[in-house]
Amino acid sequence: MPQLSVVLPSYNEEQNIKNTYGVLTELFEREQISFELVFVSDGSSDGTYREICELAGSDERVVGAEFSRNFGKEAAIFAGLDMSRGDAVVVMDCDLQHPPETILLMLEKWKEGAEVVEGIKSKRGKESPLHTFSTNIFYSLMTAFIKMDMKATSDFKLLDRKVVNALLELPEKDTFFRALSFWVGFKTEKVYYEVRERQYGKSKWSTGSLIRYAVSNVTSFTTLPLKFVSIIGGVFVILAIGLGIQTLVRFIMGNAASGFTTVILLMLIIGGLILISLGIIGNYLARVYEEVKGRPRYIISKTTSEKEKL
Ligand code: UDP
Ligand code: MG
Repeated sequence: MPQLSVVLPSYNEEQNIKNTYGVLTELFEREQISFELVFVSDGSSDGTYREICELAGSDERVVGAEFSRNFGKEAAIFAGLDMSRGDAVVVMDCDLQHPPETILLMLEKWKEGAEVVEGIKSKRGKESPLHTFSTNIFYSLMTAFIKMDMKATSDFKLLDRKVVNALLELPEKDTFFRALSFWVGFKTEKVYYEVRERQYGKSKWSTGSLIRYAVSNVTSFTTLPLKFVSIIGGVFVILAIGLGIQTLVRFIMGNAASGFTTVILLMLIIGGLILISLGIIGNYLARVYEEVKGRPRYIISKTTSEKEKL
Protein backbone atom coordinates (compact mmCIF):
# COMPACT_ATOMS: atom_id res chain seq x y z
CA MET A 1 0.00 0.00 0.00
CA PRO A 2 1.45 3.41 -0.90
CA GLN A 3 2.40 5.47 2.05
CA LEU A 4 1.55 9.07 2.77
CA SER A 5 3.83 11.47 4.63
CA VAL A 6 2.50 14.65 6.14
CA VAL A 7 5.11 17.33 6.76
CA LEU A 8 4.15 19.81 9.48
CA PRO A 9 6.43 22.79 10.10
CA SER A 10 5.81 23.94 13.66
CA TYR A 11 7.08 27.02 15.38
CA ASN A 12 5.90 27.59 18.95
CA GLU A 13 2.83 25.45 18.44
CA GLU A 14 2.78 23.42 21.67
CA GLN A 15 -0.99 23.83 21.93
CA ASN A 16 -1.53 22.55 18.42
CA ILE A 17 0.68 19.47 18.11
CA LYS A 18 -1.44 16.92 19.98
CA ASN A 19 -4.70 18.25 18.64
CA THR A 20 -3.45 18.15 15.04
CA TYR A 21 -2.05 14.67 15.61
CA GLY A 22 -5.42 13.53 16.91
CA VAL A 23 -7.38 14.96 14.01
CA LEU A 24 -5.01 13.58 11.37
CA THR A 25 -4.64 10.08 12.82
CA GLU A 26 -8.38 9.77 13.24
CA LEU A 27 -8.96 10.83 9.64
CA PHE A 28 -6.33 8.54 8.13
CA GLU A 29 -7.31 5.55 10.24
CA ARG A 30 -10.92 5.98 9.24
CA GLU A 31 -9.91 6.12 5.58
CA GLN A 32 -7.40 3.27 6.03
CA ILE A 33 -4.49 5.25 4.72
CA SER A 34 -1.04 4.23 5.84
CA PHE A 35 0.79 7.36 6.88
CA GLU A 36 3.56 9.02 8.83
CA LEU A 37 3.56 12.47 10.41
CA VAL A 38 6.78 14.47 10.17
CA PHE A 39 6.83 17.33 12.66
CA VAL A 40 9.69 19.79 12.30
CA SER A 41 10.00 22.18 15.20
CA ASP A 42 11.56 25.35 13.84
CA GLY A 43 13.65 26.25 16.88
CA SER A 44 10.58 26.68 19.06
CA SER A 45 11.04 28.32 22.42
CA ASP A 46 8.03 26.61 23.99
CA GLY A 47 7.25 22.93 24.54
CA THR A 48 6.62 22.10 20.87
CA TYR A 49 9.45 19.61 20.64
CA ARG A 50 8.56 17.99 23.95
CA GLU A 51 5.04 17.39 22.62
CA ILE A 52 6.46 15.92 19.41
CA CYS A 53 8.76 13.61 21.40
CA GLU A 54 5.89 12.39 23.51
CA LEU A 55 3.91 11.51 20.40
CA ALA A 56 6.90 9.87 18.74
CA GLY A 57 7.45 7.80 21.88
CA SER A 58 3.94 6.40 21.86
CA ASP A 59 3.29 6.19 18.11
CA GLU A 60 5.94 5.06 15.68
CA ARG A 61 4.13 6.75 12.82
CA VAL A 62 5.32 10.07 14.22
CA VAL A 63 8.82 11.35 13.56
CA GLY A 64 10.17 14.74 14.43
CA ALA A 65 13.17 17.00 14.58
CA GLU A 66 14.12 20.20 16.30
CA PHE A 67 16.20 22.97 14.71
CA SER A 68 19.07 24.54 16.57
CA ARG A 69 17.35 27.91 16.13
CA ASN A 70 14.50 29.45 14.15
CA PHE A 71 15.39 29.02 10.47
CA GLY A 72 11.97 29.89 9.06
CA LYS A 73 9.11 27.92 7.61
CA GLU A 74 10.86 27.30 4.29
CA ALA A 75 13.72 25.54 6.03
CA ALA A 76 11.31 23.55 8.17
CA ILE A 77 9.42 22.40 5.07
CA PHE A 78 12.60 21.25 3.39
CA ALA A 79 13.80 19.45 6.50
CA GLY A 80 10.44 17.69 6.63
CA LEU A 81 10.64 16.73 2.95
CA ASP A 82 14.10 15.35 3.56
CA MET A 83 12.93 13.23 6.50
CA SER A 84 9.77 11.99 4.82
CA ARG A 85 9.68 8.47 3.40
CA GLY A 86 6.21 8.34 1.82
CA ASP A 87 5.32 7.86 -1.84
CA ALA A 88 3.24 11.00 -1.60
CA VAL A 89 4.09 13.89 0.68
CA VAL A 90 1.64 16.51 1.88
CA VAL A 91 2.93 19.76 3.35
CA MET A 92 0.50 21.54 5.65
CA ASP A 93 0.47 24.01 8.54
CA CYS A 94 0.20 22.40 11.91
CA ASP A 95 -2.44 24.87 13.12
CA LEU A 96 -5.14 23.04 11.11
CA GLN A 97 -5.87 26.14 9.04
CA HIS A 98 -5.43 23.83 6.09
CA PRO A 99 -8.46 21.53 6.33
CA PRO A 100 -7.27 17.90 6.71
CA GLU A 101 -10.17 16.50 4.64
CA THR A 102 -8.68 18.27 1.62
CA ILE A 103 -5.83 15.76 1.82
CA LEU A 104 -8.29 13.05 0.76
CA LEU A 105 -9.13 15.03 -2.40
CA MET A 106 -5.42 15.52 -3.04
CA LEU A 107 -4.80 11.79 -2.67
CA GLU A 108 -7.55 11.06 -5.16
CA LYS A 109 -5.96 13.35 -7.75
CA TRP A 110 -2.61 11.77 -7.01
CA LYS A 111 -4.00 8.28 -7.60
CA GLU A 112 -5.40 9.55 -10.89
CA GLY A 113 -1.86 10.43 -11.93
CA ALA A 114 -1.18 13.96 -10.73
CA GLU A 115 2.35 14.50 -9.44
CA VAL A 116 1.77 17.86 -7.81
CA VAL A 117 -1.58 18.74 -6.28
CA GLU A 118 -1.74 22.42 -5.38
CA GLY A 119 -4.04 23.54 -2.62
CA ILE A 120 -5.74 26.72 -3.82
CA LYS A 121 -7.37 29.01 -1.28
CA SER A 122 -10.92 29.75 -2.20
CA LYS A 123 -11.39 31.88 0.87
CA ARG A 124 -8.97 33.28 3.40
CA GLY A 125 -9.73 32.83 7.07
CA LYS A 126 -10.53 35.76 9.31
CA GLU A 127 -7.58 38.10 9.74
CA SER A 128 -6.98 41.55 11.15
CA PRO A 129 -7.33 44.40 8.59
CA LEU A 130 -3.62 45.24 8.88
CA HIS A 131 -2.69 41.62 8.23
CA THR A 132 -5.02 41.46 5.23
CA PHE A 133 -3.54 44.71 3.94
CA SER A 134 0.06 43.56 4.25
CA THR A 135 -0.63 40.11 2.82
CA ASN A 136 -2.41 41.81 -0.09
CA ILE A 137 0.65 43.92 -0.82
CA PHE A 138 2.82 40.86 -0.43
CA TYR A 139 0.82 38.82 -2.90
CA SER A 140 0.50 41.61 -5.47
CA LEU A 141 4.27 42.05 -5.34
CA MET A 142 4.80 38.34 -5.75
CA THR A 143 2.26 38.02 -8.55
CA ALA A 144 3.81 40.94 -10.43
CA PHE A 145 7.31 39.54 -10.22
CA ILE A 146 6.83 35.81 -10.37
CA LYS A 147 4.02 35.80 -12.92
CA MET A 148 1.86 33.25 -11.19
CA ASP A 149 -1.19 33.89 -9.14
CA MET A 150 0.33 33.87 -5.70
CA LYS A 151 -2.76 34.99 -3.92
CA ALA A 152 -4.47 31.67 -4.30
CA THR A 153 -1.52 29.32 -3.91
CA SER A 154 -0.24 28.25 -0.55
CA ASP A 155 2.25 25.92 1.00
CA PHE A 156 -0.53 23.35 1.30
CA LYS A 157 0.16 20.79 -1.39
CA LEU A 158 0.75 17.17 -2.19
CA LEU A 159 3.94 16.15 -3.94
CA ASP A 160 4.82 12.84 -5.51
CA ARG A 161 8.08 11.24 -4.34
CA LYS A 162 9.64 12.14 -7.72
CA VAL A 163 8.86 15.82 -7.17
CA VAL A 164 10.16 15.73 -3.61
CA ASN A 165 13.43 14.26 -4.83
CA ALA A 166 13.66 16.89 -7.58
CA LEU A 167 13.13 19.64 -5.00
CA LEU A 168 15.67 18.17 -2.61
CA GLU A 169 18.23 18.06 -5.39
CA LEU A 170 18.04 21.81 -6.03
CA PRO A 171 21.34 23.16 -4.77
CA GLU A 172 20.12 26.58 -3.69
CA LYS A 173 19.78 27.27 -0.01
CA ASP A 174 17.42 30.18 -0.17
CA THR A 175 14.21 28.70 -1.45
CA PHE A 176 10.64 29.66 -2.05
CA PHE A 177 8.71 26.44 -1.76
CA ARG A 178 5.44 27.71 -3.15
CA ALA A 179 6.97 28.88 -6.40
CA LEU A 180 9.54 26.12 -6.69
CA SER A 181 6.96 23.37 -6.86
CA PHE A 182 5.60 25.29 -9.83
CA TRP A 183 9.07 25.79 -11.29
CA VAL A 184 9.97 22.07 -11.24
CA GLY A 185 6.94 21.38 -13.44
CA PHE A 186 5.40 17.88 -13.43
CA LYS A 187 1.75 17.05 -13.92
CA THR A 188 -0.13 19.49 -11.73
CA GLU A 189 -3.69 19.42 -10.50
CA LYS A 190 -5.54 21.75 -8.17
CA VAL A 191 -7.88 21.33 -5.28
CA TYR A 192 -9.74 24.16 -3.62
CA TYR A 193 -10.04 24.64 0.10
CA GLU A 194 -11.21 27.23 2.56
CA VAL A 195 -8.73 28.54 5.07
CA ARG A 196 -9.95 27.80 8.56
CA GLU A 197 -9.44 29.87 11.63
CA ARG A 198 -6.50 29.08 13.82
CA GLN A 199 -7.64 27.22 16.92
CA TYR A 200 -4.77 27.83 19.32
CA GLY A 201 -1.90 30.31 19.47
CA LYS A 202 -1.44 33.14 17.03
CA SER A 203 -0.01 33.75 13.58
CA LYS A 204 3.76 34.04 13.47
CA TRP A 205 3.78 36.71 10.79
CA SER A 206 4.17 40.41 11.43
CA THR A 207 3.96 43.09 8.74
CA GLY A 208 7.74 43.51 8.90
CA SER A 209 8.42 39.80 8.54
CA LEU A 210 6.03 39.64 5.58
CA ILE A 211 7.91 42.45 3.80
CA ARG A 212 11.21 40.71 4.43
CA TYR A 213 9.70 37.43 3.23
CA ALA A 214 8.42 39.12 0.04
CA VAL A 215 11.76 40.74 -0.79
CA SER A 216 13.67 37.58 -0.04
CA ASN A 217 11.31 35.44 -2.12
CA VAL A 218 11.35 37.75 -5.11
CA THR A 219 15.12 38.01 -5.11
CA SER A 220 15.59 34.30 -4.60
CA PHE A 221 13.22 33.35 -7.37
CA THR A 222 13.63 35.88 -10.18
CA THR A 223 16.10 38.46 -11.50
CA LEU A 224 13.36 40.62 -13.00
CA PRO A 225 13.93 43.54 -10.57
CA LEU A 226 17.52 43.74 -11.82
CA LYS A 227 16.23 44.21 -15.35
CA PHE A 228 13.98 46.95 -14.02
CA VAL A 229 17.06 48.92 -13.11
CA SER A 230 18.25 48.87 -16.73
CA ILE A 231 14.78 49.71 -18.02
CA ILE A 232 14.49 52.74 -15.74
CA GLY A 233 18.00 53.75 -16.78
CA GLY A 234 17.02 53.51 -20.44
CA VAL A 235 13.90 55.60 -19.96
CA PHE A 236 15.94 58.29 -18.24
CA VAL A 237 18.54 58.39 -21.00
CA ILE A 238 15.75 59.02 -23.52
CA LEU A 239 14.24 61.73 -21.32
CA ALA A 240 17.66 63.27 -20.85
CA ILE A 241 18.26 63.42 -24.60
CA GLY A 242 14.90 65.14 -25.10
CA LEU A 243 15.58 67.62 -22.35
CA GLY A 244 19.09 68.22 -23.64
CA ILE A 245 17.84 69.04 -27.12
CA GLN A 246 15.20 71.37 -25.70
CA THR A 247 17.77 73.17 -23.55
CA LEU A 248 20.16 73.52 -26.48
CA VAL A 249 17.44 74.89 -28.72
CA ARG A 250 16.45 77.41 -26.05
CA PHE A 251 20.07 78.37 -25.56
CA ILE A 252 20.59 78.92 -29.27
CA MET A 253 17.38 80.94 -29.49
CA GLY A 254 18.75 83.02 -26.64
CA ASN A 255 15.96 82.52 -24.14
CA ALA A 256 17.51 80.01 -21.75
CA ALA A 257 15.53 80.01 -18.50
CA SER A 258 17.30 79.98 -15.16
CA GLY A 259 15.98 76.38 -14.86
CA PHE A 260 16.73 75.86 -11.21
CA THR A 261 13.54 73.88 -10.49
CA THR A 262 14.24 71.43 -13.28
CA VAL A 263 17.74 70.79 -12.01
CA ILE A 264 16.66 70.19 -8.44
CA LEU A 265 13.78 67.93 -9.49
CA LEU A 266 15.93 65.91 -11.82
CA MET A 267 18.60 65.54 -9.16
CA LEU A 268 16.07 64.31 -6.62
CA ILE A 269 14.43 61.87 -9.00
CA ILE A 270 17.62 60.49 -10.44
CA GLY A 271 19.26 60.37 -7.02
CA GLY A 272 16.31 58.40 -5.67
CA LEU A 273 16.33 56.00 -8.57
CA ILE A 274 20.04 55.41 -8.28
CA LEU A 275 19.68 54.59 -4.61
CA ILE A 276 16.78 52.22 -5.24
CA SER A 277 18.70 50.54 -8.04
CA LEU A 278 21.75 50.15 -5.87
CA GLY A 279 19.52 48.67 -3.21
CA ILE A 280 18.15 46.10 -5.63
CA ILE A 281 21.61 45.20 -6.84
CA GLY A 282 22.82 45.03 -3.27
CA ASN A 283 20.03 42.62 -2.43
CA TYR A 284 21.06 40.27 -5.19
CA LEU A 285 24.69 40.62 -4.23
CA ALA A 286 23.78 39.63 -0.68
CA ARG A 287 21.92 36.64 -2.06
CA VAL A 288 24.87 35.54 -4.17
CA TYR A 289 27.09 35.98 -1.13
CA GLU A 290 24.78 33.86 1.01
CA GLU A 291 24.61 31.09 -1.58
CA VAL A 292 28.36 31.13 -2.22
CA LYS A 293 29.04 30.66 1.46
CA GLY A 294 27.19 27.39 1.02
CA ARG A 295 25.88 27.20 4.55
CA PRO A 296 23.21 24.59 5.19
CA ARG A 297 19.57 25.53 4.95
CA TYR A 298 19.03 24.53 8.56
CA ILE A 299 20.75 22.79 11.43
CA ILE A 300 18.98 19.97 13.22
CA SER A 301 19.80 19.78 16.90
CA LYS A 302 17.67 16.77 17.87
CA THR A 303 15.58 14.14 16.15
CA THR A 304 13.09 11.73 17.63
CA SER A 305 14.88 8.71 16.10
CA GLU A 306 18.08 9.68 17.88
CA LYS A 307 16.37 9.42 21.21
CA GLU A 308 15.65 5.75 20.66
CA LYS A 309 19.37 5.03 20.48
CA LEU A 310 19.98 6.30 23.98
N1 UDP B 1 6.12 28.38 11.00
C1 UDP B 1 7.42 27.87 11.04
N2 UDP B 1 8.46 28.73 11.21
C2 UDP B 1 8.28 30.09 11.35
C3 UDP B 1 6.96 30.59 11.28
C4 UDP B 1 5.90 29.71 11.10
O1 UDP B 1 7.62 26.66 10.92
O2 UDP B 1 9.26 30.80 11.51
C5 UDP B 1 4.99 27.45 10.82
C6 UDP B 1 3.89 27.57 11.86
O3 UDP B 1 4.15 26.79 12.99
C7 UDP B 1 2.66 27.07 11.11
C8 UDP B 1 2.94 27.50 9.69
O4 UDP B 1 4.36 27.75 9.61
O5 UDP B 1 2.54 25.67 11.14
C9 UDP B 1 2.15 28.74 9.31
O6 UDP B 1 2.41 29.77 10.23
P1 UDP B 1 1.28 30.73 10.76
O7 UDP B 1 0.06 29.95 11.10
O8 UDP B 1 1.90 31.55 11.84
O9 UDP B 1 1.05 31.64 9.49
P2 UDP B 1 -0.33 32.06 8.81
O10 UDP B 1 -1.24 30.85 8.83
O11 UDP B 1 -0.85 33.16 9.64
O12 UDP B 1 0.04 32.48 7.42
MG1 MG C 1 -1.67 29.61 10.29
